[in-house]
Amino acid sequence: MSHIFPRNTRVTLPTAAKGDGCYLIDSTGKRYLDACGGAAVSCLGHSNEKVIEAIKTQLDKFSFAHTGFFGSEPAEELANKLVAQAPTGIDRVYLVSGGSEAMESAVKLVRQYFVEKGEHQRSHMIARWQSYHGNTLGALSAGGNKWRREMFGPLLIEMSHIDPCYTYRYMQEGETEEEYGLRAANLLEDEILRVGPEKVAAFFAEPVVGATMGAVPAVKGYLKRIREICDKYGILLVLDEVMCGMGRTGHIFACNEDEVRPDIVAVAKGIGAGYQPLGAMLCSKEIYDTIAEGSGFFQHGHTYMGHSLAAAAGSAVMDQLTEPGRMEHVRAMGEKLSAALHDEFGQHPYVGDIRGRGLFRALELVSDRGTKAPLDPSFKLHAKVKQNAMKAGLMCYPMGGTVDGKTGDHILLGPPFIIDDSHIAEIVEKLSLAMKESFTQVG
Ligand code: PLP
Repeated sequence: MSHIFPRNTRVTLPTAAKGDGCYLIDSTGKRYLDACGGAAVSCLGHSNEKVIEAIKTQLDKFSFAHTGFFGSEPAEELANKLVAQAPTGIDRVYLVSGGSEAMESAVKLVRQYFVEKGEHQRSHMIARWQSYHGNTLGALSAGGNKWRREMFGPLLIEMSHIDPCYTYRYMQEGETEEEYGLRAANLLEDEILRVGPEKVAAFFAEPVVGATMGAVPAVKGYLKRIREICDKYGILLVLDEVMCGMGRTGHIFACNEDEVRPDIVAVAKGIGAGYQPLGAMLCSKEIYDTIAEGSGFFQHGHTYMGHSLAAAAGSAVMDQLTEPGRMEHVRAMGEKLSAALHDEFGQHPYVGDIRGRGLFRALELVSDRGTKAPLDPSFKLHAKVKQNAMKAGLMCYPMGGTVDGKTGDHILLGPPFIIDDSHIAEIVEKLSLAMKESFTQVG
């Protein structure tokens, strides 16, 4: 009998036993092609020797030195490598153990920054519906995933939300992408004016929305307009690249493709690549200096922050992500994956949209391609696809539609960056099988 408290108490899962490149193998020897990296985590596959070696080497030196007592070489190295790739102006790195910690740190840093500047009234934060920023209460407050928020109402921090940039469901007929991007971004200005510009501290967004909508990139120009609006009102721009960052979209930082400079950016998942729990909040020199020259103490922290083994792993991951040709490969394989998905599902009666960037792709499922009506949530089609895909030996990441029906069920794909053409063919073949079986099960 198991004493583990699982996330979902109603399902029994196979036991993972071994990793082998793009595959995970369970205790019965069955192989699963990992087409989602768990949740866009395992960007270098499951048996990367360089990362494993870096962890072992560090382990031989020391494993834990509390950041209240010591700095460490692996942490310094990783910070340097991240800043070297980060958008202009980003200068400091706060190393934590995952995405929620990184985003929670961001929420608190935003608040402390304005308190230290004497702008105590700036406590309101704005984010977007259909987003996810993590499960700790500050990060959950920023997130606009109603299903995840529902249970925790009174505990959440007051934040307001605007609609996301989501062409498939929000772009109007006759509108160009550029016009739509401007209209969607201007919703932020409307909200700032509604709240009162002097009260607003920050705006939070994922450059490519991951888990809640399924690989939805903002249209060109959207984030640039968002930046302009933030600058106009002295508001910080916080970008959450926990899922879409670290090369997932074909750029180490997704926002570099959008040519946008955030004040704070969070990464996780791919930076530890599954070898260690690791996340980072990066911020501008201006924010850091305000704290350093003010109280000198960021009123936050976690015991395991800056952990040497995690930092050593992250550093080895960064070396490989920045190898010549790596991002080009992600972009090329992303195009191939997209083409294969279009070939297989482009005419599928229940696939409304196929989208994404790099090796971050998704299908959105609908009950009617014309009306775009989401599938009946009681079908739990996403759960069926996940189960049937596992049966077929494929890991993909399906999620249910949003509770207000503004997004349909979707299937997110985020395979390791080491995939080749044969893996793409296997992903599409097994996904097609899992979809067929799932739709048969709901009649
Ligand atoms: N932010 C985004 C965009 C995410 O996708 C996630 C996790 O899926 C998080 C934050 C939270 O990260 P973690 O699960 O590592 O706490």
